[in-house]
Amino acid sequence: MIIKDSYDVVVVGAGPAGATAANYAAKKGVSVLLIDRKKDIGVPLQCGGFLPGFSVLEELVPNAELPYTLKEFPANCINATTSYQRFIAPDGYSKGFEVTGYALDRKRFDKYLVHEAASSDAHVLIGTSVTSVDGKVLKCEGVFGNFSVNAKVIVGADGPSSFIGRNAGLVLEHDPMDIATALEYELMGVNIDEPSVEMYFGKDYVPGGYAWIIPQGNNSANIGIGIRRPMCKKGMSYRDYLNHFMEKHPIASKKLKGSTIVSVIGGLVPVGGAPSRTVSGNVILAGDAAGHLIATNGGGISTAMLGGKIAGETAAEFVQNKIPLNEYEIRWRQQMGIEIKTAVYTRKLMDNLMKSDTMVSAAFKMISSEHMKAIQCGKLPNTVRSNLLKLNKGM
Ligand SMILES: Cc1cc2nc3c(=O)[nH]c(=O)nc-3n(C[C@H](O)[C@H](O)[C@H](O)COP(=O)(O)OP(=O)(O)OC[C@H]3O[C@@H](n4cnc5c(N)ncnc54)[C@H](O)[C@@H]3O)c2cc1C
Repeated sequence: MIIKDSYDVVVVGAGPAGATAANYAAKKGVSVLLIDRKKDIGVPLQCGGFLPGFSVLEELVPNAELPYTLKEFPANCINATTSYQRFIAPDGYSKGFEVTGYALDRKRFDKYLVHEAASSDAHVLIGTSVTSVDGKVLKCEGVFGNFSVNAKVIVGADGPSSFIGRNAGLVLEHDPMDIATALEYELMGVNIDEPSVEMYFGKDYVPGGYAWIIPQGNNSANIGIGIRRPMCKKGMSYRDYLNHFMEKHPIASKKLKGSTIVSVIGGLVPVGGAPSRTVSGNVILAGDAAGHLIATNGGGISTAMLGGKIAGETAAEFVQNKIPLNEYEIRWRQQMGIEIKTAVYTRKLMDNLMKSDTMVSAAFKMISSEHMKAIQCGKLPNTVRSNLLKLNKGM
């Protein structure tokens, strides 16, 4: 493999954001290097793999030009297709809406995205960590040796703990309420309503968050919890909560009884929104590194890819002297800024209610299925907003 000494654009992180950034930058004809510390792209898996269908994504971010890779991925990247999303309140009351979605095989999907970038002429370097950045120089260490590489633009697509973002002074220490820990089991032998994605609420099982069941086909499913430490009981670990949900939840436990855990997955989910700036000097951030995620459901695959597309295109146009790099800030905020901000606002309104199961169950009864779908799409209809504010006042 021949790696050059310098590139127009170096992308750090080959997850959905970075691979998409590299693809779109390379398509514009600039030289691109995509680096990831993983020796095997997509492994270890750190995702439930749920991706709403393309038309739902168009509703989620109506002002966006979505990457083609959110629509045109190979069929073998899909483990299962879902057609319904169900929400289960702490008192067992449930409602939902019809919606097409996919349970992705993220390992295959991430590899597909990286291959698309390589097909557009991006160079790809796996098994390599970026260990320091000084101006245009990135120091790299890994299975192909230790070396430095120069970049006109650096795209930090290095996930929720972004080293590139911290090094550039863009990402500060997260408030513990703005970062959720997600823990997940892949289960075989479940007894579930196959085409439905389910979200369960209740402070004894998932304080300040929710648990999910995402069917993966052939009686298998990903089940997981996304919770925040300040809302957990002292002495309860994340694993305690997930096991408690799996074994004791009155509805979920029946579906999961007798199943076998075949994989444990974990990671961080940034639910605090974007930092005030995502561009500094020659560095831009995309994906989880830039808080490109919908805080009400923790979904970040599609928004990371959109952020990556905008980052790649803007970096290339900057190198070609067409625009200032700061244009990135304007572009991504125009395309998905409102949805990301609204979801954080809604999440904060729910945070207080989530201290009381009675309040959450009451909120579920007040919010129509249609409005639940809107909330999932980063919207907050006025009636829902005023009902949530009223419930908050009553706390
Ligand atoms: C358990 C869990 C379940 C989830 N379930 C869903 C879901 O069902 N649907 C959904 O839409 N979202 C889900 N998410 C969120 C989703 O996975 C992320 O939003 C998405 O992966 C973000 O993509 P990204 O490219 O920004 O970051 P990542 O996918 O985290 O990719 C970052 C990459 O950067 C690399 N990297 C980091 N530092 C360096 C370095 N110094 N040098 C080189 N490489 C580096 C990492 O190896 C990694 O490959 C889930 C998250 C978790 C933790």
